[in-house]
Amino acid sequence: MTATSDTHQTTYERLCQHVRETTLLTSARQLLEWDERVNLPPAGAPFRADQVEYLAGLVHQRQTAPQIGEWLAQLADSPLAEDPYSDTGTVIHRLKRDYDKRTKLSQRLVEELARMGVLGQQSWATSRKANDFAQFRPVLEQILTLKREEAAAFGYEESAYDALLDEFEPGEKTANVARVLGALREQLVPLVQQIAASPRRPNAQLLKRSFPVDRQAEFARRAAAAIGFDFQAGRIDLSQHPFCAEPGPFDARLTTRYFEHFFPSGLFSVLHEAGHGIYEQGLNKEFYGLPLGQSASLGIHESQSRLWENHVGRSRAFWEHFYPQAQEEFAALEEVSLEDFYFAINDVQPSLIRTEADEVTYNLHVMIRFELEQVLIADELAVADLPEAWNDKYREYLGIEPPSDADGVLQDVHWGACLFGYFPTYTLGNLYASQFMARAEQDLGDLDSMFRRGEFGPLREWFRERVHRQGRRYSATELVERVTGRPLSPDALMEHLRTKFGPLYGLG
Ligand code: ZN
Repeated sequence: MTATSDTHQTTYERLCQHVRETTLLTSARQLLEWDERVNLPPAGAPFRADQVEYLAGLVHQRQTAPQIGEWLAQLADSPLAEDPYSDTGTVIHRLKRDYDKRTKLSQRLVEELARMGVLGQQSWATSRKANDFAQFRPVLEQILTLKREEAAAFGYEESAYDALLDEFEPGEKTANVARVLGALREQLVPLVQQIAASPRRPNAQLLKRSFPVDRQAEFARRAAAAIGFDFQAGRIDLSQHPFCAEPGPFDARLTTRYFEHFFPSGLFSVLHEAGHGIYEQGLNKEFYGLPLGQSASLGIHESQSRLWENHVGRSRAFWEHFYPQAQEEFAALEEVSLEDFYFAINDVQPSLIRTEADEVTYNLHVMIRFELEQVLIADELAVADLPEAWNDKYREYLGIEPPSDADGVLQDVHWGACLFGYFPTYTLGNLYASQFMARAEQDLGDLDSMFRRGEFGPLREWFRERVHRQGRRYSATELVERVTGRPLSPDALMEHLRTKFGPLYGLG
C-alpha cells in the first residue's frame, strides 16, 4: 500500500466513524418517535417535541460538520471512490449527496421541522377525533410554509415538489412520477369500471363476524414468522396507525391494530409491516448507519411491504396453506369455504379509506393525494379550500363522497407529520413490487406451489440478495432496471391485477 492510499484509507475510516456515531443519535430519535406513536400520553407531547427538536439540531450539526466536507473532498478523486458501485464508492458518493443536501438547510429550519413534526401529528390526531378540520388548518398552513422554505433551500429545477420528493425517492422527478401514474390511471380506471359492472360480488360480511382479538394477534404472529420476520430481532406492538420503525440494528418494530369485527385489518397490516421489517432485518448490519446498510428508497421499502401483503398474503396459494389453521382458530370461518374467503379478502370496491382499500382502487387514493399536495406546495390551493378539493377528487376518481373530514381529508397522518412528497412512494412501491415479483417468478419457478407448501424462504432470500443486501448501492430506478431488466412501467402491475381479478370477477 502506498502512502497516499494509506491516507485515503484513514480518512475513509474517520468519515465512517463519524457517520456511525451520528447514527447513535438518529436511532435515539427514532426510538423517541416510536414511543410517541405507541405510548406517549397527549400531555407529554410538548416535552417530546423539545427532545426531538434538540436531537434534530445536534444531528444536523454533526451531519454538516465542515470536516465531513473536507474528508469527502479528499476522497472524491481517490481510488476508493473510482467505482461508484463498489462498497467504498457507494459510501463516498451517497454520503457526498447527503452532505450536499444537509448543508443547504439551516439548523433553525431543521429544528422547526422536527418540532412541527411532533406538534403537527398531535394537532392532526385531535382534529381528526373531533372531525374538525378548522382546528388543524392553521397548523397545516404553518407546515406548508416550512416545507416551501425547505424546498427553496434544497433548490430545484422544475418544481418545488421535486425537492421534497427527492427526500423519499432520491433522484426521482415529479414529471416522471406523473407520467407513470397517468399511464397507470388510464388502464386502471377501465378495470375498476369493469369490476363495478360485474354481477359477481363476494360476501364481504363474513369478515365482519366475531374474530377474538387475542386469537388474531396469535395468528398474525404465526404468519409473520412464517414469511420470515425474525422475532429475536423485532417485535409487534399496538398503535392507532400501523407502522414499522427500526431504532437499532436487530431491532425492527412493527405495530398494528386489531378489530374484533373486521378480520383483514389486523392480519394484513401485520404482513405489510412485516415486509418492511424483513427488509430492515435483511440490510447488511456490518454497515449499520452507512449507506450500504440503509434502504434504497421509500418506494423500494414499500415494494417489500406490498408484495408480502398482497402478492403473497392475499393470494389463493397462501391461503391454501393457512386456511385450515385459520378455520381451527376462528369459529366464524368454520362453515366458510376457502373460495368464499379468498374472494372476500379480495373484494374490490371504491372506498373512503386508503389504508383499507383493495389492491385495484388503492392507487387512485394515492393519485388524489399526489395531485393535491403538488398544488398545496405550489400555493395554488388554499388550505381552507382543501376539504372541498379532496371531496371533489373522491367524487371524480372513486365516485364516492366522504361523509366527514375525519374519513376524508383528515384520514392520513402524513401532512401533520410534515411529510410531503411521501404519498407517491406508495404507488411506486406497488409498481416495483409487481415488476420484482414477475422477475422472481421467472427465476424461481412456480411461486404459488411454494406458498401452498408454506415455503416462503426462497422468495425472501431472492430479495435478500438482490435488494436488501445492496443497501443504497443503486438508486431505486437503477435497482429496478438491474433486478428486472426493465425500466419502471405500469405493465407488470396491470398484468398482476388482470390475472388475479379477471377470473374472480368473471371478466372477459
Ligand atoms: Zn408501508
